[in-house]
Amino acid sequence: MIVVMKPNATEEMVQAMVRRVEEMGLKAHVIVGEERTVIAAAGIKRDGHQEVLESCAEVEKVVPIVAAYKVASKETKPEPTIVTTHGLKIGGSHVGVIAGPCSVESEEQILQVAHQVKAAGATGLRGGAFKPRTSPYSFQGMKEEGLKLLALAREETGLAVVTEVMTPNHVDLLCQYADVLQIGARNMQNYHLLQAVGETRLPVLLKRGPSATIEEFLLAAEYILDQGNQQVMLCERGVRTFETHTRFTLPLATVPYLHERTHLPVVIDPSHGTGIASLVPPMCAAAIAAGCDGLILEVHPDPSRAMSDGAQSLTPDAFSQTMDLCRKVAAAVGKELG
Ligand code: PEP
Ligand code: MN
Repeated sequence: MIVVMKPNATEEMVQAMVRRVEEMGLKAHVIVGEERTVIAAAGIKRDGHQEVLESCAEVEKVVPIVAAYKVASKETKPEPTIVTTHGLKIGGSHVGVIAGPCSVESEEQILQVAHQVKAAGATGLRGGAFKPRTSPYSFQGMKEEGLKLLALAREETGLAVVTEVMTPNHVDLLCQYADVLQIGARNMQNYHLLQAVGETRLPVLLKRGPSATIEEFLLAAEYILDQGNQQVMLCERGVRTFETHTRFTLPLATVPYLHERTHLPVVIDPSHGTGIASLVPPMCAAAIAAGCDGLILEVHPDPSRAMSDGAQSLTPDAFSQTMDLCRKVAAAVGKELG
């Protein structure tokens, strides 16, 4: 249920209502909107709950939430969520761009590419230090050493650091270095990991599992939101289909479809979505035209020597040209890049 407080309800009244909701055995999520505060009451609803809450003087109305994903739903919060950290702004009228290599490989590599993507207009730096690789024999990442290099790159450029966390055991370590915690596609339904990042207050970039439905994707986000972390970004990175010409199939209808249902910002990853560097710029343009709130792109100083995902990585020059194209498309749809 959504308990809509009256516009003049004070913080004390809201807290009293939170206690009331909790006494009913429900979990209360306070969402402060521009005009009024609402409390999303999640859990098993019993007969009479709605009437009792509705009878409280400071409550304007109580409405049931139809969607399975209660806190992520637009029914709970109609206005868009904007995620902001360290100059990275994703949502509303801003299209944030997170760029960088698939993996952190060396100090020289990450510092060089960080400066290059910053100069071209990126506002976030990506780079995997703990890598989920299909083969156990592939490069697994520089681990904590890689995190230290990302922090150094942030110090030099001011870019927000976006990096993947693969296990609940690493969440505390990642929090010491990262500005955004990335949950990889393979871990979208690792519920203990989702809850662990939900307990932090760092923004989370949640990638869609390659075979997950949108409903499953939103319910995965709900695991994070349910722990009280409201800073969640949904990332479409392509799904597995019968098609083999691209690495995955990138469905851009995900963008408007999600915008109709959730207030959470939507980020597109055309690098993993296509697996082919030449397809990345046009898909970036299409994603912005479709209304996405952010892009995450793989850029490597020398893609032919990349230790992972070289075929889909842009050169710094190609990234810079892509940013010029994206700026024009963003302007055409009334948004600002960066
Ligand atoms: C990545 O971002 O490098 C990555 C592993 O992506 P995904 O989880 O979408 O496969
Ligand atoms: Mn990658």
